[in-house]
Formats: sequence, structure tokens, C-alpha cells
Amino acid sequence: MARYVGPSCKLCRREGTKLFLKGQRCRSDRCAVERRPYVPGERNQQRRSRTSEYGLQLREKQKTKRIYGILEQQFRGYFHKAARQKGVTGENLLKLLERRLDNVVYRLGFAPSRKAARQLVRHRHIQVDGRRVTIPSFLIEPGHVVTISEKARDMPMVKNSIQATDRNNMVPYLHLDEGGFSGRLEGHPSREDIPVQVNEQLIVELYSK
Ligand code: SF4
Repeated sequence: MARYVGPSCKLCRREGTKLFLKGQRCRSDRCAVERRPYVPGERNQQRRSRTSEYGLQLREKQKTKRIYGILEQQFRGYFHKAARQKGVTGENLLKLLERRLDNVVYRLGFAPSRKAARQLVRHRHIQVDGRRVTIPSFLIEPGHVVTISEKARDMPMVKNSIQATDRNNMVPYLHLDEGGFSGRLEGHPSREDIPVQVNEQLIVELYSK
């Protein structure tokens, strides 16, 4: 599956907010959004005064895609899947994205960012219910146990990430097992428990045009 390989910080600056794409750097004063809080290419230029309704919807969609590191075609696929499910489409969309394996690895604190989590998955360091899974978009079901390999536990990136993560404050739909190297999806996430600041309704409106 194709992925974005350009500069991550540029994406945050374009959205005008921190998307936390780079791990620890995002929490330091080296964050580009804090050092250069303007849209790339717009320094010394007046920002466009009004954003159209379409513009707002587009930005919300782009922001969500960028947070989860997904390109347009795959994101649209998630939207159609969410629309076919019972319930509120926007919420279904976020719930689906939260269940991606790379996101779960990131939320469990095994990696400092979703991008790094994707690499762990690709490099065969992650098991689901004891079976190695190398597909970052693999959807975790309630009850699945996600485990990081013994080899990866010694990686500085993994060690630092585990140390830096406040694991007592884990999202309620994930449970970290004793030892801290595996975690379980307790149930389907509810929207209020998903710590992502987006207005998913705007995405639904955009795709419903
Ligand atoms: Fe975004 Fe992190 Fe770069 Fe800051 S450091 S701009 S939050 S990717």
C-alpha cells in the first residue's frame, strides 16, 4: 500500500495544528508548528480571510487522513465501509481507523508514532493472538491480543517509547497486560474515548456531496 514519504512537519503546519506524527520531537520545543506557526509558503502573506464550507470539510478530511497516515483511496474505502455499518457514519469511520493494527501498536506505547508502529508491523515484530501479522491495516477485533516480539523489546526506539508513554492513562478500550509487552482490545471504542480532535461529521458531508 502506498504511503506518504514527504516531510511530516509540513503536514502539521498545513493543518495548523499538531498531528503528533514524529513521536518525542512533537512534545519538545523543536516542534515545527511551534517554531513556525504559519502555513508553508504563506509567510509574510495575508491568510485568506474566509474558508468556504467545502474548504472546512476538505481540511477535516485531510487532517484525519494525515493523523492515521492513510492515503485518499484507502481512506475512502474506510468511509464506504463505515457508511455500510449501523450507527453514525462519522463515528464508525473513526472507530475503524482506531482498530488498525498500526494504530493499536502506537496506542499501546510500543512505538512513538503511527509511522514507527507501521514499520514495526512491516518488519515482522508484531503478533496478533500469537500469529505474526505484517499488514498495518489489519483490523483488530475485540479480544485480540497484540504482542511485540522479544527482539523488538530491546530496540532503543521501543524502549524509549515505552518509557515516554503514560501507560496508566491508556485509552479505555485497550488493556495492557502485565509485563507491558502485550495488550488487548477490550471492546469497540466509543467516540468520546477516541482522543482525536476532528469533526468527523464534516468528512461525512464532504463525501456525501
Ligand atoms: Fe507535527 Fe510533530 Fe512535526 Fe510538531 S514535531 S510539526 S507535531 S510532526
